[in-house]
Amino acid sequence: MDLKSLIREIPDFPKPGILFRDITTLLRDPDGLRYTIDSLTQKCKDTFPEVDYVVGMESRGFIVGTPLAYQLKAGFIPVRKPGKLPAEVHSIEYQLEYGMDRLEVHKDALQPGSRILIVDDLIATGGTAAATAKLVQQAGCNLVGFGFIIELRDLGGRGYLPDVPIVTLIEY
Ligand code: 5GP
Repeated sequence: MDLKSLIREIPDFPKPGILFRDITTLLRDPDGLRYTIDSLTQKCKDTFPEVDYVVGMESRGFIVGTPLAYQLKAGFIPVRKPGKLPAEVHSIEYQLEYGMDRLEVHKDALQPGSRILIVDDLIATGGTAAATAKLVQQAGCNLVGFGFIIELRDLGGRGYLPDVPIVTLIEY
């Protein structure tokens, strides 16, 4: 299936000079959605035979990560923007193009030794995924790998990630 044909490209969003890959058109397509989740599931099953939890980042990581966790018979753990999670959190600051941002996860969600797969819709510079990996590893979890629908290869994001397998469906 030609998934690229279902991904809409929006120039100059959210800022001039950025070509945004809009996956809402892929999610809206019944066959595209099914094919995307089924393919990612199969690749992840082949690459990561044992996963206890899928960790997904707000907010498109929730959309991809939850059905994937369900298929892998794993649990799902949300990583959120500051101030959204109600219980005690681990928090990490990370660099954006301009300024800093922060991600949080419930402390008691990350148990030492858990086998964790980090999932998001897209990896660009790798900053979001690298920060999430730090949260997971600092809590003593066993990071088994990463899964993304889309990788923007020219930005070299995978170079900032720990040395574990990375599964992707589409590359630009
Ligand atoms: P990074 O931290 O790797 O530079 O950026 C990845 C994060 O930003 C992901 O959470 C992803 O959802 C979002 N993102 C950055 N660029 C795009 C894009 O072109 N399309 C989509 N759908 N998300 C993007």
